[in-house]
Amino acid sequence: MNENLLNRSLSAVWHPCTQMKRHETLPLVAIARGQGVWLYDFDGNRYLDSVSSWWVNLFGHCNPRINAALIDQLGKLEHVMLAGFTHEPVVLLSEKLSELAPAGLGHCFYGSDGASATEIALKMSAHYWRNNGKPLKTQFISLQNSYHGETLGALSVTDVALFRDAYGALIKQNATVPCPDWREAAAGESPEDFALRCAAALEQHLQQHHQHLAAFIVEPLVQGAAGMAMYHPIYLNRARELCSQYGVHLIADEIAVGMGRTGTLFACEQANISPDFLLLSKGITGGYLPLSIVMTTDHIYQAFYADDTARGFLHSHSYTGNPLACRAALATLDIFAQDDVLHANRDKATFFNRIAQPLREHPKVRNFRSTGMVWAFEVDTPHADFAQRCFSLGLQHELLLRPMGNTVYFMPPYIITEEEIQMLVTRTLTIIKMLS
Ligand SMILES: *Cc1c(COP(=O)(O)O)cnc(C)c1O
Repeated sequence: MNENLLNRSLSAVWHPCTQMKRHETLPLVAIARGQGVWLYDFDGNRYLDSVSSWWVNLFGHCNPRINAALIDQLGKLEHVMLAGFTHEPVVLLSEKLSELAPAGLGHCFYGSDGASATEIALKMSAHYWRNNGKPLKTQFISLQNSYHGETLGALSVTDVALFRDAYGALIKQNATVPCPDWREAAAGESPEDFALRCAAALEQHLQQHHQHLAAFIVEPLVQGAAGMAMYHPIYLNRARELCSQYGVHLIADEIAVGMGRTGTLFACEQANISPDFLLLSKGITGGYLPLSIVMTTDHIYQAFYADDTARGFLHSHSYTGNPLACRAALATLDIFAQDDVLHANRDKATFFNRIAQPLREHPKVRNFRSTGMVWAFEVDTPHADFAQRCFSLGLQHELLLRPMGNTVYFMPPYIITEEEIQMLVTRTLTIIKMLS
């Protein structure tokens, strides 16, 4: 069964972000079922999903409460178009998110995945300026090493060479500004001082280019795909002030960092700011179904409100606001409330940091860092193919580890137990010793 499935997958399925030829030597892993933090293959081997299946799963695989909500919803309504129609899950979810999000974000626009949320925010921002008689404001800025998705518009604000270079001719050129990642601070400079220095560079850019700038898009606190780069929240405070001062929208891409990942429900809360647009996806459905949400202010909403169709926001996806996905999101938010998850995660993170002390102190481990329920570090290794070796050794040790280059990170589901944390850390240390 297993062998057969792997071969059929390799001939029929084109896997994402993958050089398919590599699978001549590196076997695929066929997963039969999941339970909690564990994924099980067809031979009964298990793997601890330490990356929450690309950062989406919050409360474990096959979560009974999310399953029950979806089964209930399946018996009522699986889908209806959201233009001209509405339904209970999308209304409840929009109201609930507006209640929970930073102040002023009272309108929810729906997309299908993270990249579509980025597209929506970019279009909405530029269209806002056009509706306000400023059609020249069509450029965007992002941080160095930013990641906001891989569709063409999203790639125009994504600063990852590997993802961009082959498609450069198709992509609008937008500028980047210095990234406050504290690993780049000068010797003796604090993360806070470095963040302020980067904010000064942002100010200079805004001063020179604001007439052509629609928005600044940023991953608050942690730049995920850059290798879990972390920075001081003061950067967000300054970015908020400067964007307001220069008339440029601030887009907070909380696709990865939202939903409690950084310790607060939304990362922006740690700087006590409200962006003009807040993007959610990934964990919003607990990792069950694709859904994304662009939250924005009444001020922006009103700029589109008119008799003229062309002044309205012109964007749709077939599955916009899918009821099953919204229902999974509501069940996910219920778990946050019922289990006081943010509070429990604080204790879990403290425990994790204590257990991870030997990892932090290992001589080949550098820049050990954490924010909320994200941990990362670099490994000094002689192996150019470290990431692949680490992945393979991980599987042999019942772990799903997926390093980015020589950066190892953990972004586990929040239901991970102390025993599972211990196992994850101890076995990772064993693997690091084998590879350094
Ligand atoms: C994953 C991610 C996206 C893109 O989401 P997809 O669902 O993969 O399209 C955008 N921004 C950030 C910060 C992400 O981590």
